[in-house]
Amino acid sequence: MSIDKYPILFVGHGSPMNAIEDSEFSDEWKKLGQEVPRPKAILAVSAHWSTSGTKVSSQAKPKQIYDMYGFPPELYALKYPAKGDPQLASEALNLLGEKASIDNSWGIDHGVWSVLHRMYPEADVPVTELSVNLDATPEEHFRLGQKLAPLRKEGILILTSGNIVHNLSLIDWDKKGGFSWANAFDAWIEKTITEKNFALVSHYEKAGESAKKAFFTPEHFYPLLYALGAANSEDEVTVFNNKRIMGSLSMTGYLFK
Ligand code: ZN
Repeated sequence: MSIDKYPILFVGHGSPMNAIEDSEFSDEWKKLGQEVPRPKAILAVSAHWSTSGTKVSSQAKPKQIYDMYGFPPELYALKYPAKGDPQLASEALNLLGEKASIDNSWGIDHGVWSVLHRMYPEADVPVTELSVNLDATPEEHFRLGQKLAPLRKEGILILTSGNIVHNLSLIDWDKKGGFSWANAFDAWIEKTITEKNFALVSHYEKAGESAKKAFFTPEHFYPLLYALGAANSEDEVTVFNNKRIMGSLSMTGYLFK
């Protein structure tokens, strides 16, 4: 790994239960925690912090947010006491420009702690969250990702967490794989990314009919655009957890290094 190319991750987080129930997905996250060189800090872009405007948390001790409902008590008992990184927050703010601002009303949500509990179970890497601005266009999210690229020179892990296919209203709890349109959309994104057409992913509607069902709200898709913006065409792309479950949820993740 050269110093100007710290890895970037997009993780399909799926159910919060992946934090405590062992699965092929959580096994892969564990492996990533061991394989990716240990970062100095993590800038996490989370589907679960959607805001109007781009927000960065700058708390030294971020609170853990249990932003999920109806799960077993063990999940609410899970503690992930990672520190924040106020210096990373101000650096991110400088890179993102004047449209971004500090917001300390949030903390570390399950989109981030469910994954990090597997990657860094000791919670000993500081975490700063960046929100998903629901007022921004896909291209704007991609450009914000581009602005974050310099963090790669500093051993910061840009961890983006969402799901590429995330349509809870169409979920079939008993279905093992994905619906054909879910498979098609995930495959279109995979092809576009592995061919290094990163900017084209902002125009995901070009995937055709499948794009219309992949999600009805975009907050779980947008984190991917930050990873792609920060990545560059010389990166080696690794696809992991390349699976669809319950019809309309994809667990696919990408590592750029
Ligand atoms: Zn989620």
